[in-house]
Amino acid sequence: MTESNTAPVTGHSPNALAAVEAEIARACKDARRERSAVTLIAVSKTFGPDAILPVIGAGQRVFGENRVQEAKAKWPALTEAYPDIVLHLIGPLQSNKAKEAVALFDAIHSVDRPSICQALAKEIESQNKHPQLFVQINTGEEPQKAGVKPGEADAFLASCSDTYGLTISGLMCIPPVDEPPAAHFALTAKIAARNGLTNLSMGMSADFANAIMLGATHIRVGSAIFGHR
Ligand SMILES: *Cc1c(COP(=O)(O)O)cnc(C)c1O
Repeated sequence: MTESNTAPVTGHSPNALAAVEAEIARACKDARRERSAVTLIAVSKTFGPDAILPVIGAGQRVFGENRVQEAKAKWPALTEAYPDIVLHLIGPLQSNKAKEAVALFDAIHSVDRPSICQALAKEIESQNKHPQLFVQINTGEEPQKAGVKPGEADAFLASCSDTYGLTISGLMCIPPVDEPPAAHFALTAKIAARNGLTNLSMGMSADFANAIMLGATHIRVGSAIFGHR
């Protein structure tokens, strides 16, 4: 394993990370928010260790993956070498993957139905491991997309704690690709506020500055750091 401070600069990732960091700093300043209020999740899906190591070498420690199997294949070796890495599952979760997801991830952004709540509650108890949980809101009510409909969010959030004993930390959204994201970010923030939730996972490569203006605490940035997939 290459030492972090001598990692070869392959590709453009470290420079791209610096550019993303600069834009985050600017957005935080504009929004009068502390930089520390926003967690950058570097979304490394489809990229292997050769692309990820330079980004680790540049100091990034929080990473996101959208598939449990892919993460399981590539992250254990990296987290062994860099134990302070924090892993977020940002993609859809199936109940039969809940065991592996709880074992592997520090945060799960895709809680969206009773079967997932039940499977997570069981694994959290048996593994005594408590990943940070986000409920995904399908703000655009898109049929092909995961997430709870906005009108059902309050009842679902109540059932997470009342029925399953889960502590939900915040909300996540993925706005429709063909619409300006601001209204979706604002709706997610509004649902979170009325449910007493402080964390907001929203904003990707194209719109994270906008998301920071509207209160994002976790931004999920892939292609702006790693290049095109
Ligand atoms: C891939 C992915 C991202 C990152 O998207 P980019 O446009 O590459 O920044 C963010 N969130 C989710 C849920 C993703 O699947």
